This record gives sequence, structure tokens and C-alpha cells, in this order.
Amino acid sequence: MAKQTNTKRACCIRCGKCCIKSSPTLQVQDLGLITDGTINKASLYTLRVGEIVQDPVNKKLAQITKSIIKIKEVNENTACLYFDKKEKDCTIYDNRPSQCASLKCWDTDEFMEIFEGEALGIRDIVSDGVLLGLIDEHEKRCSYSLIEGQVREIERGGEGVVQEILDILRFDYELRPFISEKLNLDLEELDLCFGRPLMDTIIMFGLKVVQGPDGSFLLTRF
Ligand code: SF4
Ligand code: SF4
Repeated sequence: MAKQTNTKRACCIRCGKCCIKSSPTLQVQDLGLITDGTINKASLYTLRVGEIVQDPVNKKLAQITKSIIKIKEVNENTACLYFDKKEKDCTIYDNRPSQCASLKCWDTDEFMEIFEGEALGIRDIVSDGVLLGLIDEHEKRCSYSLIEGQVREIERGGEGVVQEILDILRFDYELRPFISEKLNLDLEELDLCFGRPLMDTIIMFGLKVVQGPDGSFLLTRF
């Protein structure tokens, strides 16, 4: 990325414009913010390998090649969850993640150094063997590369392929409340373990799921 400079600014005025545009990705040095409770797990989600998202640095859509953990976004999915819109301020400012602390919108050098460092991974946060096994199994059965391949096959394979995609989406949909109950985990925390629900993210492939009156799921073009 080309260095961005804005000579009109010498320090952060806490205007919050960067907090409204996106939330930070967590780096390994941010782990303490989770263990000390500054950031709770229900506030986080994982962007999984293969997801198509807006690259904040290059400002274009890109496919994720390594999973990353982000703070959830609100207000049309862009503003950081920890940004208080009314007060126009960060609610965890003194303990904000490293990307936020390094961000100077007038000079991106320090941010880029942090951004290119080691990202926090799910295995840095979760140590429970059962849950880690379930995360691996979920990735095997619900990977974005698998879904993407099947979406490409729809024209050729017809209804059979559509049903296979729906089976994956239903597995992801039903797994979450089941695990929440069995492992006594907040349902909201499962976006960190399993990424965002596939029923929502399937939209990135130009598809959406609608539920019929009998509870069955149907896949349609978005
Ligand atoms: S880094 Fe820039 S955009 Fe972000 S709060 Fe500070 S002055 Fe505003
Ligand atoms: S954690 Fe705070 S500083 Fe960082 S994006 Fe969110 S509101 Fe802004």
C-alpha cells in the first residue's frame, strides 16, 4: 500500500471517522484484552479462509487467505461495536486494540507495521480440546472453498448440488444452538469459533436462503 499522509493533521482528534468505517483485526499482542475482559468473546467474529471481504488497506474486495479475528460491526455492518455513536467515542479507548492505537489517518506507517505483524488466531484464545475439534470438523464440512466449488457446479449439477449446499448451510445453522447448549457457551461467542452464520454469508456467492412455511430452506439467486 502506498504511504498515506495528511500534512494538515498532527495528532488524533478522536473524531471517530475510522471507527465508523470499520473495526480492527486483533493481533497476538491483543490477547490480554480478551483474557482481562476488556473485549468479550461475544464481541468478536472470525473471518474464515475463502470469505470475500473489503480489504481495508487496498480498498477492494479480496478473498481471505488466512483466518483473522475482528471486533463485530454494527450500523449497516461498518461501525465498530465499541464505538459509542451518541458520545462519538471509543468505549475502550484506554485499552483499545493495537491496530487502533497505531492508527494515524494522516500517516499509515505505524499502522502498517502492526497490520503486517502476527494476527491473533482462534487457537490463541480457545484451549478446550472438544471445542477445537468441533471447529476443525466444522471447517472440514463447511469450508468456503467447498461451498464455492459447489456454487460453480449449480448450473451443471442442478437440484442435487443445490441440496448439497443447503445441507451444509443447515449443518452450520443447527450446530450453533446445539453447541451453545451442550458446552454452555453464549450463542454470540460462536461467531468467533465458527465464523459468521453461513445463512448470512452465502450472499457473497449471489445466493440467499428463504424459509418456506413448512420450515424448509430454499436457495434462490440474490
Ligand atoms: S485516527 Fe484520524 S479518523 Fe481516526 S479518530 Fe483519529 S483523527 Fe479521527
Ligand atoms: S476499538 Fe475503539 S478505537 Fe478501535 S475501532 Fe473500535 S471504537 Fe474505534
